Amino acid sequence: MTESTAPLPPEPSAARPLLGPAEIRALAEQLGIRPTKTLGQNFVIDPNTIRRIIAAARLGAGETVLEVGPGLGSLTLGLLDAAEQVVAVEIDPPLAEQLPRTAERFRPERADRLTVIEQDALRVQELPAAPSALVANLPYNVAVPVLLHLLGRFPSLRHGLVMVQEEVADRLAAAPGSKVYGVPSVKASWYAEVTKAGTIGKNVFWPAPKIASGLVRFVRRDEPVAAVDRDLVFAAVDAAFAQRRKTLRAALAGWAGSAAAAGEILEAAGIDPGERGEKLDVHQFARIAQAGAAAGLTAGARGA
Ligand code: SAM
Repeated sequence: MTESTAPLPPEPSAARPLLGPAEIRALAEQLGIRPTKTLGQNFVIDPNTIRRIIAAARLGAGETVLEVGPGLGSLTLGLLDAAEQVVAVEIDPPLAEQLPRTAERFRPERADRLTVIEQDALRVQELPAAPSALVANLPYNVAVPVLLHLLGRFPSLRHGLVMVQEEVADRLAAAPGSKVYGVPSVKASWYAEVTKAGTIGKNVFWPAPKIASGLVRFVRRDEPVAAVDRDLVFAAVDAAFAQRRKTLRAALAGWAGSAAAAGEILEAAGIDPGERGEKLDVHQFARIAQAGAAAGLTAGARGA
């Protein structure tokens, strides 16, 4: 299912209650949960924020939504109202065990649409259903690697809406030349068009984080950026930004084998070797990788 113009599913309403501060605290107490920073546990306690995320996710009819880090289920309940199926991947065993019960209690008529998988999202290789959308309040410390892993692993993911730290949201959606443009920006745009979809304040969470959050929307590209090994492109991107103040000729020397080889590859790709990586978009990085491949580089070689 791609992002669609079909009528939106019904908004959560009084008949479909969402979790507020009282419910979240009661659930946490019942489970003996003390939110941990290590797992990025900041739970949404504000139904309006959930409604906003669901609306911003632009789910169409019949979607299978992947949620990473459902926590106590704040977003999961909203997703159960809006999606055909929800697959939720949670690393913390007590939270994963409780979630089906929470769904049964608050959404008895839709609870059978939920599948909970107790696993580290960074390691997920298979899912019970091909997800069409990712909608998640991501654990902040692993948000970028989780997003990139899932986009790489599940081509069925056509679009999504994730909440991350605001500075990460800005980085993911940044364009070449911007101060915050970097590795996450280029790699995310290898897969998708990425845009920022809003800012979320701190007080909608328990516990409240120190910094604001941002919403990021992505829509997967219809066509791949280029016919070239992704790992070779990503290795060039990593090398270019590892030394972002250096010229590409110098920064890509390790990747290409030498500065001279990097210069030749850049010339062949039609990129000025005196340019810096922060000025290039994903298409230009792909051209560099294609020229590198033509010169015999492989992703398994240096720098990859
Ligand atoms: N979605 C819930 C909400 O909005 O209230 C909780 C979001 S909280 C920011 C992040 C959640 O991700 C926590 O439930 C945490 O246990 C879980 N988590 C942390 N690292 C994870 C990982 N590597 N894989 C899956 N879940 C993870």
